[in-house]
Amino acid sequence: MINAASNIFAPSTENIAAAAAVIREGGLIAFPTETVYGLGADATNDRAVASIFEAKDRPRFNPLIVHFASSSEAGNAAAFDARAHRLAGAFWPGALTLVLERRSASAISLLVSAGLETLAVRVPAHPVAQALLAAAKRPIAAPSANRAGEVSPTSADHVSASLAGSPEMILDGGPCPVGIESTVLDLTTPRAVILRPGGITRDEIEGVIGPTGPANAAPGGATEGVKSPGMLARHYAPDRPLRLDAGEVGRTEALLAFGPHAITGGAAEMNLSPSADLTEAAANLFAMLRALDRPDISAIAVMPIPETGLGVAINDRLRRATQSALAGPAAKG
Ligand code: AMP
Ligand code: MG
Repeated sequence: MINAASNIFAPSTENIAAAAAVIREGGLIAFPTETVYGLGADATNDRAVASIFEAKDRPRFNPLIVHFASSSEAGNAAAFDARAHRLAGAFWPGALTLVLERRSASAISLLVSAGLETLAVRVPAHPVAQALLAAAKRPIAAPSANRAGEVSPTSADHVSASLAGSPEMILDGGPCPVGIESTVLDLTTPRAVILRPGGITRDEIEGVIGPTGPANAAPGGATEGVKSPGMLARHYAPDRPLRLDAGEVGRTEALLAFGPHAITGGAAEMNLSPSADLTEAAANLFAMLRALDRPDISAIAVMPIPETGLGVAINDRLRRATQSALAGPAAKG
């Protein structure tokens, strides 16, 4: 888009309906929440979620927060325990994100969780975010609406300066009232752990559920991608070893192909993108790794993926998966 400002829209009923249609069709919408502006896509659409990572130019797949219209809808996607119910009752809609176990029947894209068995869920309070969720009738996956490495945007102009025309529309809800990200609280462990400090304080959370675990994240919370070291280790890897840059496939191996090829002879094959489209490949990555991670397969042979655009994040994830496979037997021996 030549005039980046031309995709900024007032949050009128008509414009919200148009933005909701864009979400349902798999496009990207930047929208205000009470914390920061989000870059949103249909959380159930792998391809749409892949385009979030593409627009942000992230070098790796960080798990994304999924925004819901209500706690009962969030409860359909993730399993709430008693603590989650109490926290949702106290702080939703609001600036608290809960990391919970995914429900196995959940329609949420595996790419949203970067392959993890957990899901980060939130019900935002901002009226424009609420109106968009209600009109889209979809959960919306949304990281902050800025390119990787930049600070989170708290106005439509910040979004425009960082992402220009990559969202089809930027809904302008004025400055974000909270202005720092949501607090990310991990409830998948017996003691809740704050993974990222944010809009809801530790004292407020502890007032509802008692003591939380040690904070590994840096204070402040307004920076991109603050994480606990523990969280970084918990990325998804298949049980079968991965063999990267494969030019052929063994009889007991599965081939994870990319683009057109003439390789034959494996026990199974899936193609991340027959047309060599990196966005399609990112959308398929986690689902295909899972599908090929079968007991009758000795290893997954992965064809080379170009180290450009989303290929950087795909290769980063594949290399990490290789390292965890190597670390497994070594740790046991
Ligand atoms: P942003 O993408 O800027 O909104 O930041 C989202 C934050 O939530 C990041 O710190 C993510 O790593 C964290 N997050 C999202 N999903 C999960 C998850 N399943 N487990 C742990 N942390 C998560
Ligand atoms: Mg961010």
